[in-house]
Order: sequence, then structure tokens, then C-alpha cells
Amino acid sequence: MMRLILKPGREKSLKRRHPWIFSGGIARIEGKPQLGDTVEICSADGVFMAVAAYSPESQIRARVWDWKAVNIDADFFALRIARAAVRRSDFDVSGVRLVHGESDGLPGVVADRFGDTVVVQLLSAGAERWRGAIADALAALPGVTRVVERSDADVRMLEGLPPQSGLLRGVAAQEPLVVTEHGLQYGIDAEHGHKTGFYLDQRDNRLMLRGMVKDKAVLDCFCYCGGFALNALAGGASAVTAIDSSGSALTAAQANAQRNQLPAAEWIEADVFQTLRKYRDAGRKFDVIVLDPPKFAPTAAHAEKAARAYKDINLIGFKLLNPGGVLMTYSCSGGVSPDLFQKIVAGAALDAGVDARIEGWLHAAADHPVALNFPEGEYLKGLLCRV
Ligand code: SAH
Repeated sequence: MMRLILKPGREKSLKRRHPWIFSGGIARIEGKPQLGDTVEICSADGVFMAVAAYSPESQIRARVWDWKAVNIDADFFALRIARAAVRRSDFDVSGVRLVHGESDGLPGVVADRFGDTVVVQLLSAGAERWRGAIADALAALPGVTRVVERSDADVRMLEGLPPQSGLLRGVAAQEPLVVTEHGLQYGIDAEHGHKTGFYLDQRDNRLMLRGMVKDKAVLDCFCYCGGFALNALAGGASAVTAIDSSGSALTAAQANAQRNQLPAAEWIEADVFQTLRKYRDAGRKFDVIVLDPPKFAPTAAHAEKAARAYKDINLIGFKLLNPGGVLMTYSCSGGVSPDLFQKIVAGAALDAGVDARIEGWLHAAADHPVALNFPEGEYLKGLLCRV
């Protein structure tokens, strides 16, 4: 077996069962592992710690498959994937995250299920190495008729992998995909939509918004296919404005509003940063503002630049609120911790000259679990702030 031998003391995080081995912690490599190969991780004095997937290009040089010396083979993935699916047996298969990477013991593997279609992302060298076994295991789940790949996320580049997407198993769907979430229907474009086509992680937060907007003027920034805006309309908002820079996202959002026979909204194709400034200069105000921007900091290296962007939109967001108004603000950046995000939002309120308090800490839905040994899994964090 090929082995990575750690530098003295660098086994500490592995003992806490953190699944990442950084390049700086490795003393030497025995054998010639290739991209995605299974390697044993050993402490400096040669004690076995874990089996992991080798990733020569990434700073995260290896990701742990298991803490025991088990065989990594097709059966391993079949079992892990079946278990992850069983853990979601209480969820509606209409739209559910089936596999959530490290937190399901499958680093680099993300899979969302929309009815009989599974959309999978293989985002690490190890996941890529086992693509056949992973696709087979997903296709074998009860009720699944096709597996579509969407491994076109930027993080693949950090692993030295080219983007890849297309049908992996089964035949292409004849009917458009539609999911039902808390009674609202959304059409999903699994082939061209963002990520896997839909942001399941905001499911419960969207419902929460629905419950707090009656007769309020709501602004949904970065609306994508309308998730928050649709819930605002369903919740009886007096007016809803939704902004996204993507024309196709807005077309999908309007189609979704129609699909659910919701009242009219103002759909704006524009840059949020510019539009918020325009509203500020025009003195426009809202009662509830949602800020759900894309990932500004994919890794910790981007945290500073991301912090400025978060501060910017939150600062203006606060200024656009009527007295008693609510800002529902999110970060889905892995490189920005919940703690840092709260500091950024606090700084934004201060500079906006508003007195605000947190009424809720918001998270991804329960089908996006966070393994206790992997706090990085908590990528989505939100704050509900009232001024
Ligand atoms: N709130 C959505 C998900 C948002 S995803 C939901 O509940 O489903 C982030 C969105 O931000 C994407 O649709 C993307 O097109 C949009 N976007 C990215 N940069 C933008 C910008 N500068 N201005 C406006 N929209 C932007």
C-alpha cells in the first residue's frame, strides 16, 4: 500500500477525525500514488491513521475515506451512499440532498435528488477516481432512473480536474423536472442551472420568510429561480422586488411564479451592488430584505476580498430598511466562518448607522448535515437582523 507519512505532531487533526490532510503536514510519500489513488496515512512514527484519496494538485493533499484500514472499492461506495440515503428517508424525494460530502463520509461527493433524477457533483480527485462506482451506487437507489453529472464547479480546478457534465446513468428525462418544496413548485434545469440546478439548502429559510412578510414590501437580492421571492408572494407580501444578474434565472423565476399562480412581482435583471446603490440614492425603502449572494470566498484565501463584498451589500441593505425592518442575510462561502460573518454584518450595521439586533441564526436544512468533526461543513450561515 502506498503511504503518506506525516511530519511529527501533524496527526493531531486526524486524531480528532478531521478528514483533510494538508500538503504542509506531509513529511514523505512512499510509492508513486496518482490522482485519486487510495493511500494510507501514517503518523511520523509509522502508526496507521486512516485511508485516504491522494490529490497531488490540491493544498488538501488527501481526504480521508475511513479511519479503519478498510478496502476502498465499489462496495464501499455502495454502502456509504445507501446509508446517506437512509438517513434522508424522512425527506420528500421530490427535492433532497442525498449526499453531502465529508459530512456523509464521502469527501468531494455531492448528490441532490429531484424525483427520479439524481444530480451528482464529483469535486475531488478521490471522487473522480471512483466515478463509476459512485454513479452505479446512486443509480441503484430505489426509484432512481437516471444520474446526471454536474462536475463543472470551479473547485474541480483546485484538484487538477477539468469540468465535466452529462448523463452518467439511465436515459434523458422526457418531461421537465419539477420539485415541490413546502407546497410550491419549481422547474429545474439540471443540465444548465446553477450547481445541481436548485439550492435545496435554503428550503426551510424560504419557508421562514413566508411566515414573516404579510403586508410587507420585500426585496429579494440574488433571487436565482425565485426561491425567496416566491415565498414572499405566497406569504402575502404587499410588494416583491427580486434582483438577479442572470437573465435565464429570472426567466425561470417568472415561470415558477406563474406555475404557482402567484401575484405579480417586479423582476429586475441587474447587478445587485449597483441596484442597491440606485435604490439608496432614490430613497427607496423595504420592510424585509433578503441577501443570498453567491460564494464570494470559495476558500479561506479569498476571505478578505469576500469580507469587503459582504460588508458592502449588508451596509446598503441596512440603509434601505424601514424602521423595524428585517435583513435576512447569508454567506455560503466556505472561507468565511460563521463568527467572521457575524462580525462583518455587525460592522455593516455600525457603518450604516443603524441599531440592529440578531433575532435568528440561520443554517442549511437538515439534509445538509455538518459532521461534528468537520466544522467546515457549515458553509451556509445566515443572520436575521431587525433594525
Ligand atoms: N436565493 C436563491 C439562490 C441564490 S444563488 C435561492 O433561494 O434559490 C446566487 C445568485 O446570484 C445566482 O442566481 C446568480 O446569478 C446571482 N448573482 C451573482 N452575482 C450577482 C450580482 N453581482 N448581481 C446580481 N445577481 C448576481
